[in-house]
Amino acid sequence: MLAGAVVVACAVNPGYCSEAVDRADKGTIVVHDPLFLGHDTGPGFPEAPERLRWLLPEVPAEIAKIGPDRNIDPLPWILTVHEKIYVDDARKACAAEEVYLGSPDCPISRDSYDVAVRAAGATLTAVDAVMLGHARNAFAAVRPPGHHAMPGAAKGFCIFGNAAIAARYAQKKHGIGRVMIIDWDVHHGDGTQEIFYEDPSVFFFSVHQYPFYPGPSGAAENTGAGEGKGFTKNAPLAAGSGDQAVLAAFRSELPGAFRKFKPEFVIISAGFDAHEADPLGGLGWTGGVYGELTRIVRGLAREQGHERIVSVLEGGYSKRGLTEGVCAHLEALAE
Ligand SMILES: [Zn+2]
Repeated sequence: MLAGAVVVACAVNPGYCSEAVDRADKGTIVVHDPLFLGHDTGPGFPEAPERLRWLLPEVPAEIAKIGPDRNIDPLPWILTVHEKIYVDDARKACAAEEVYLGSPDCPISRDSYDVAVRAAGATLTAVDAVMLGHARNAFAAVRPPGHHAMPGAAKGFCIFGNAAIAARYAQKKHGIGRVMIIDWDVHHGDGTQEIFYEDPSVFFFSVHQYPFYPGPSGAAENTGAGEGKGFTKNAPLAAGSGDQAVLAAFRSELPGAFRKFKPEFVIISAGFDAHEADPLGGLGWTGGVYGELTRIVRGLAREQGHERIVSVLEGGYSKRGLTEGVCAHLEALAE
Protein backbone atom coordinates (compact mmCIF):
# COMPACT_ATOMS: atom_id res chain seq x y z
CA MET A 1 0.00 0.00 0.00
CA LEU A 2 1.03 3.57 -0.57
CA ALA A 3 0.75 4.95 2.89
CA GLY A 4 0.51 8.67 3.33
CA ALA A 5 0.16 9.58 -0.33
CA VAL A 6 -2.95 11.13 -1.82
CA VAL A 7 -3.95 12.33 -5.24
CA VAL A 8 -3.49 16.06 -5.55
CA ALA A 9 -4.09 18.50 -8.31
CA CYS A 10 -3.61 22.22 -8.47
CA ALA A 11 -5.75 23.52 -11.30
CA VAL A 12 -4.82 27.16 -10.77
CA ASN A 13 -1.05 26.80 -10.73
CA PRO A 14 0.41 24.04 -12.85
CA GLY A 15 3.70 24.47 -11.04
CA TYR A 16 4.63 23.91 -7.45
CA CYS A 17 1.64 24.27 -5.17
CA SER A 18 2.36 24.22 -1.48
CA GLU A 19 -1.29 23.55 -0.74
CA ALA A 20 -1.09 20.48 -2.92
CA VAL A 21 2.06 19.17 -1.33
CA ASP A 22 0.69 19.98 2.11
CA ARG A 23 -2.15 17.65 1.26
CA ALA A 24 0.40 15.03 0.29
CA ASP A 25 0.73 14.60 4.05
CA LYS A 26 4.44 13.97 3.98
CA GLY A 27 4.04 11.22 1.42
CA THR A 28 6.00 10.65 -1.75
CA ILE A 29 5.81 13.19 -4.56
CA VAL A 30 6.83 13.16 -8.20
CA VAL A 31 8.06 16.39 -9.78
CA HIS A 32 7.73 16.68 -13.52
CA ASP A 33 6.90 19.17 -16.27
CA PRO A 34 5.47 18.72 -19.78
CA LEU A 35 8.30 20.96 -20.97
CA PHE A 36 10.65 17.99 -20.55
CA LEU A 37 9.14 16.50 -23.73
CA GLY A 38 10.55 19.45 -25.66
CA HIS A 39 14.18 18.25 -25.60
CA ASP A 40 14.11 16.76 -29.11
CA THR A 41 17.04 14.41 -29.67
CA GLY A 42 15.99 13.27 -33.14
CA PRO A 43 14.65 10.01 -34.55
CA GLY A 44 15.96 6.76 -33.14
CA PHE A 45 17.96 8.31 -30.28
CA PRO A 46 17.56 6.31 -27.05
CA GLU A 47 17.21 9.32 -24.73
CA ALA A 48 13.89 10.38 -26.19
CA PRO A 49 10.70 12.13 -25.01
CA GLU A 50 8.94 8.77 -25.21
CA ARG A 51 10.74 7.80 -22.00
CA LEU A 52 8.55 10.15 -20.00
CA ARG A 53 5.46 9.28 -22.04
CA TRP A 54 6.03 5.65 -20.97
CA LEU A 55 6.87 6.43 -17.39
CA LEU A 56 4.42 9.07 -16.21
CA PRO A 57 1.15 7.19 -16.84
CA GLU A 58 2.55 4.36 -14.72
CA VAL A 59 3.11 6.51 -11.63
CA PRO A 60 0.73 5.13 -9.02
CA ALA A 61 -2.35 7.34 -8.86
CA GLU A 62 -1.94 7.74 -5.11
CA ILE A 63 1.34 9.59 -5.50
CA ALA A 64 1.16 13.38 -5.66
CA LYS A 65 2.51 14.95 -8.82
CA ILE A 66 3.66 18.55 -8.90
CA GLY A 67 5.45 20.86 -11.28
CA PRO A 68 8.73 22.69 -10.67
CA ASP A 69 8.54 25.73 -8.40
CA ARG A 70 8.65 28.69 -10.77
CA ASN A 71 9.92 30.87 -7.93
CA ILE A 72 13.26 29.10 -8.02
CA ASP A 73 15.78 30.47 -10.52
CA PRO A 74 17.86 27.36 -11.22
CA LEU A 75 20.64 29.22 -13.02
CA PRO A 76 22.67 30.37 -9.99
CA TRP A 77 22.50 26.83 -8.66
CA ILE A 78 23.57 25.33 -11.99
CA LEU A 79 26.57 27.66 -11.77
CA THR A 80 27.59 26.12 -8.43
CA VAL A 81 28.51 23.02 -10.43
CA HIS A 82 29.12 24.13 -14.02
CA GLU A 83 31.44 26.68 -15.59
CA LYS A 84 29.68 29.82 -16.80
CA ILE A 85 31.30 29.63 -20.22
CA TYR A 86 29.84 26.15 -20.72
CA VAL A 87 26.37 27.18 -19.56
CA ASP A 88 26.48 30.18 -21.92
CA ASP A 89 27.65 27.96 -24.77
CA ALA A 90 24.78 25.55 -24.14
CA ARG A 91 22.27 28.39 -24.30
CA LYS A 92 23.77 29.81 -27.49
CA ALA A 93 24.02 26.41 -29.18
CA CYS A 94 20.32 25.75 -28.60
CA ALA A 95 19.31 29.25 -29.71
CA ALA A 96 21.32 28.71 -32.89
CA GLU A 97 19.56 25.37 -33.34
CA GLU A 98 22.83 23.50 -33.54
CA VAL A 99 22.55 19.75 -33.97
CA TYR A 100 24.44 18.70 -30.87
CA LEU A 101 26.20 20.12 -27.82
CA GLY A 102 29.89 19.32 -27.72
CA SER A 103 29.62 15.84 -29.20
CA PRO A 104 27.07 13.67 -31.04
CA ASP A 105 26.45 12.03 -27.65
CA CYS A 106 24.28 15.01 -26.81
CA PRO A 107 21.88 15.98 -29.59
CA ILE A 108 19.96 19.18 -28.90
CA SER A 109 17.05 21.16 -30.23
CA ARG A 110 15.97 24.78 -29.83
CA ASP A 111 14.29 24.16 -26.47
CA SER A 112 16.92 21.86 -24.97
CA TYR A 113 18.60 24.55 -22.88
CA ASP A 114 15.28 25.65 -21.34
CA VAL A 115 14.39 22.02 -20.69
CA ALA A 116 17.74 21.32 -19.03
CA VAL A 117 17.40 24.40 -16.81
CA ARG A 118 13.85 23.39 -15.87
CA ALA A 119 15.02 19.84 -15.14
CA ALA A 120 17.52 21.22 -12.65
CA GLY A 121 14.74 23.38 -11.21
CA ALA A 122 12.48 20.36 -10.78
CA THR A 123 15.20 18.61 -8.85
CA LEU A 124 15.61 21.65 -6.59
CA THR A 125 11.84 21.70 -6.07
CA ALA A 126 12.09 18.10 -4.90
CA VAL A 127 14.82 19.11 -2.43
CA ASP A 128 12.66 21.96 -1.10
CA ALA A 129 9.62 19.72 -0.69
CA VAL A 130 11.58 17.25 1.40
CA MET A 131 13.53 19.84 3.39
CA LEU A 132 10.41 21.90 4.15
CA GLY A 133 8.57 18.79 5.26
CA HIS A 134 5.96 18.93 2.51
CA ALA A 135 6.97 15.47 1.35
CA ARG A 136 8.73 12.56 3.00
CA ASN A 137 10.66 11.82 -0.16
CA ALA A 138 10.51 12.81 -3.81
CA PHE A 139 11.28 11.60 -7.31
CA ALA A 140 12.21 14.11 -10.00
CA ALA A 141 11.06 12.63 -13.33
CA VAL A 142 13.30 14.77 -15.48
CA ARG A 143 15.15 14.69 -18.74
CA PRO A 144 17.78 15.18 -19.97
CA PRO A 145 19.63 13.05 -17.40
CA GLY A 146 22.63 14.54 -15.65
CA HIS A 147 25.19 12.22 -14.11
CA HIS A 148 27.69 12.26 -17.00
CA ALA A 149 27.67 16.06 -17.36
CA MET A 150 31.09 17.53 -16.61
CA PRO A 151 31.70 20.95 -15.05
CA GLY A 152 32.58 22.31 -18.46
CA ALA A 153 31.01 19.95 -20.97
CA ALA A 154 27.96 17.93 -21.95
CA LYS A 155 28.51 14.20 -22.04
CA GLY A 156 26.57 10.98 -22.56
CA PHE A 157 23.06 12.43 -23.15
CA CYS A 158 23.54 14.80 -20.15
CA ILE A 159 23.62 18.62 -20.16
CA PHE A 160 23.52 19.68 -16.48
CA GLY A 161 24.27 17.49 -13.47
CA ASN A 162 20.87 17.51 -11.82
CA ALA A 163 21.90 15.35 -8.85
CA ALA A 164 25.10 17.31 -8.26
CA ILE A 165 23.25 20.63 -8.44
CA ALA A 166 20.67 19.31 -5.97
CA ALA A 167 23.47 18.32 -3.59
CA ARG A 168 24.94 21.82 -3.67
CA TYR A 169 21.46 23.30 -3.23
CA ALA A 170 20.77 21.15 -0.17
CA GLN A 171 24.05 22.35 1.30
CA LYS A 172 23.96 26.05 0.43
CA LYS A 173 20.22 26.72 0.59
CA HIS A 174 19.24 24.41 3.43
CA GLY A 175 22.43 24.21 5.48
CA ILE A 176 22.93 20.48 5.01
CA GLY A 177 26.48 19.38 5.77
CA ARG A 178 26.92 15.88 4.41
CA VAL A 179 25.16 14.66 1.27
CA MET A 180 25.42 11.14 -0.11
CA ILE A 181 24.70 10.50 -3.78
CA ILE A 182 23.86 6.88 -4.57
CA ASP A 183 23.99 6.11 -8.30
CA TRP A 184 22.52 2.85 -9.59
CA ASP A 185 22.41 3.73 -13.28
CA VAL A 186 24.06 1.00 -15.39
CA HIS A 187 26.68 3.54 -16.44
CA HIS A 188 29.20 5.05 -14.06
CA GLY A 189 28.26 8.60 -13.02
CA ASP A 190 31.58 10.05 -14.06
CA GLY A 191 30.34 13.64 -14.08
CA THR A 192 29.08 13.45 -10.52
CA GLN A 193 32.28 11.75 -9.43
CA GLU A 194 34.41 14.42 -11.10
CA ILE A 195 32.48 17.27 -9.47
CA PHE A 196 32.90 15.93 -5.94
CA TYR A 197 36.11 13.90 -6.26
CA GLU A 198 38.07 16.14 -3.88
CA ASP A 199 35.09 17.13 -1.73
CA PRO A 200 34.65 15.34 1.62
CA SER A 201 31.16 16.83 2.12
CA VAL A 202 29.57 14.80 -0.69
CA PHE A 203 30.00 11.02 -0.69
CA PHE A 204 29.52 9.42 -4.09
CA PHE A 205 28.56 5.72 -4.11
CA SER A 206 28.07 4.04 -7.47
CA VAL A 207 27.18 0.59 -8.75
CA HIS A 208 27.54 0.17 -12.49
CA GLN A 209 28.46 -2.26 -15.22
CA TYR A 210 32.22 -2.40 -15.58
CA PRO A 211 34.10 -2.30 -17.85
CA PHE A 212 31.57 -0.28 -19.81
CA TYR A 213 30.77 3.25 -20.94
CA PRO A 214 32.14 5.72 -19.83
CA GLY A 215 35.18 3.83 -18.54
CA PRO A 216 37.89 3.83 -17.44
CA SER A 217 36.26 5.83 -14.63
CA GLY A 218 34.35 3.78 -12.08
CA ALA A 219 37.06 1.33 -11.09
CA ALA A 220 37.05 0.22 -7.46
CA GLU A 221 40.42 1.97 -7.09
CA ASN A 222 38.79 5.36 -7.74
CA THR A 223 38.12 6.47 -4.17
CA GLY A 224 38.54 10.24 -4.28
CA ALA A 225 41.54 12.54 -4.05
CA GLY A 226 42.96 15.16 -1.74
CA GLU A 227 40.53 16.02 1.05
CA GLY A 228 37.98 13.89 -0.77
CA LYS A 229 40.04 10.71 -0.50
CA GLY A 230 37.78 7.98 0.82
CA PHE A 231 34.57 9.84 -0.05
CA THR A 232 34.02 8.13 -3.40
CA LYS A 233 33.17 4.43 -3.52
CA ASN A 234 32.72 2.49 -6.71
CA ALA A 235 31.30 -1.02 -6.76
CA PRO A 236 31.79 -2.19 -10.35
CA LEU A 237 29.56 -5.08 -11.47
CA ALA A 238 30.25 -7.64 -14.18
CA ALA A 239 28.03 -7.83 -17.23
CA GLY A 240 25.17 -10.25 -16.67
CA SER A 241 25.69 -10.35 -12.90
CA GLY A 242 21.97 -9.77 -12.24
CA ASP A 243 20.02 -8.86 -9.12
CA GLN A 244 22.15 -10.84 -6.70
CA ALA A 245 25.35 -8.95 -7.44
CA VAL A 246 23.83 -5.51 -6.93
CA LEU A 247 21.95 -6.61 -3.83
CA ALA A 248 25.21 -7.98 -2.43
CA ALA A 249 26.91 -4.64 -3.09
CA PHE A 250 24.07 -2.74 -1.41
CA ARG A 251 24.11 -5.09 1.56
CA SER A 252 27.86 -5.44 2.01
CA GLU A 253 29.45 -2.22 0.72
CA LEU A 254 26.87 0.55 1.09
CA PRO A 255 25.97 0.17 4.80
CA GLY A 256 29.53 0.61 6.07
CA ALA A 257 30.09 3.72 3.99
CA PHE A 258 26.69 5.09 4.94
CA ARG A 259 27.10 4.55 8.68
CA LYS A 260 30.58 6.04 8.68
CA PHE A 261 29.66 9.09 6.62
CA LYS A 262 26.26 9.66 8.30
CA PRO A 263 24.64 11.62 5.47
CA GLU A 264 22.10 14.24 6.41
CA PHE A 265 20.59 14.15 2.94
CA VAL A 266 20.50 11.39 0.31
CA ILE A 267 20.18 11.77 -3.43
CA ILE A 268 19.61 8.75 -5.65
CA SER A 269 20.78 8.97 -9.24
CA ALA A 270 18.10 6.58 -10.38
CA GLY A 271 18.80 5.12 -13.78
CA PHE A 272 16.78 2.14 -14.94
CA ASP A 273 19.07 0.98 -17.73
CA ALA A 274 20.45 -1.97 -15.73
CA HIS A 275 17.03 -3.60 -16.26
CA GLU A 276 17.09 -6.82 -18.28
CA ALA A 277 14.94 -5.26 -21.02
CA ASP A 278 17.19 -2.26 -21.58
CA PRO A 279 18.75 -2.00 -25.03
CA LEU A 280 21.93 -0.31 -23.76
CA GLY A 281 22.72 -1.95 -20.43
CA GLY A 282 23.83 -5.51 -19.78
CA LEU A 283 23.43 -6.15 -16.06
CA GLY A 284 20.15 -8.04 -16.34
CA TRP A 285 18.29 -6.74 -13.28
CA THR A 286 14.60 -7.41 -12.76
CA GLY A 287 12.16 -4.57 -12.09
CA GLY A 288 11.61 -5.64 -8.52
CA VAL A 289 15.22 -5.11 -7.53
CA TYR A 290 14.71 -1.36 -7.73
CA GLY A 291 12.24 -1.68 -4.88
CA GLU A 292 14.73 -3.68 -2.84
CA LEU A 293 17.52 -1.15 -3.42
CA THR A 294 15.15 1.64 -2.40
CA ARG A 295 14.23 -0.15 0.82
CA ILE A 296 17.88 -0.61 1.70
CA VAL A 297 18.56 3.11 1.21
CA ARG A 298 15.48 4.07 3.22
CA GLY A 299 16.48 1.75 6.02
CA LEU A 300 19.97 3.22 6.21
CA ALA A 301 18.58 6.77 6.22
CA ARG A 302 16.17 5.87 9.00
CA GLU A 303 19.12 4.68 11.06
CA GLN A 304 20.42 8.25 10.79
CA GLY A 305 17.13 9.56 12.14
CA HIS A 306 15.72 10.98 8.93
CA GLU A 307 14.37 9.99 5.54
CA ARG A 308 15.49 12.94 3.48
CA ILE A 309 15.72 11.21 0.09
CA VAL A 310 15.42 12.84 -3.32
CA SER A 311 15.64 10.55 -6.33
CA VAL A 312 16.46 11.86 -9.78
CA LEU A 313 15.82 10.07 -13.06
CA GLU A 314 18.96 9.27 -14.99
CA GLY A 315 18.95 6.59 -17.75
CA GLY A 316 16.53 3.83 -18.75
CA TYR A 317 15.69 3.26 -22.39
CA SER A 318 13.14 0.49 -22.59
CA LYS A 319 9.45 0.86 -21.90
CA ARG A 320 9.30 -2.26 -19.75
CA GLY A 321 12.47 -1.46 -17.84
CA LEU A 322 11.40 2.09 -17.08
CA THR A 323 7.86 1.28 -16.10
CA GLU A 324 8.68 -1.76 -13.98
CA GLY A 325 11.68 -0.12 -12.36
CA VAL A 326 10.09 3.23 -11.62
CA CYS A 327 6.93 1.62 -10.23
CA ALA A 328 8.91 -0.62 -7.89
CA HIS A 329 11.06 2.35 -6.84
CA LEU A 330 8.07 4.63 -6.18
CA GLU A 331 6.10 1.99 -4.34
CA ALA A 332 9.08 1.38 -2.06
CA LEU A 333 9.53 5.13 -1.50
CA ALA A 334 5.84 5.43 -0.59
CA GLU A 335 5.56 2.41 1.71
ZN1 LIG B 1 22.87 5.08 -18.00
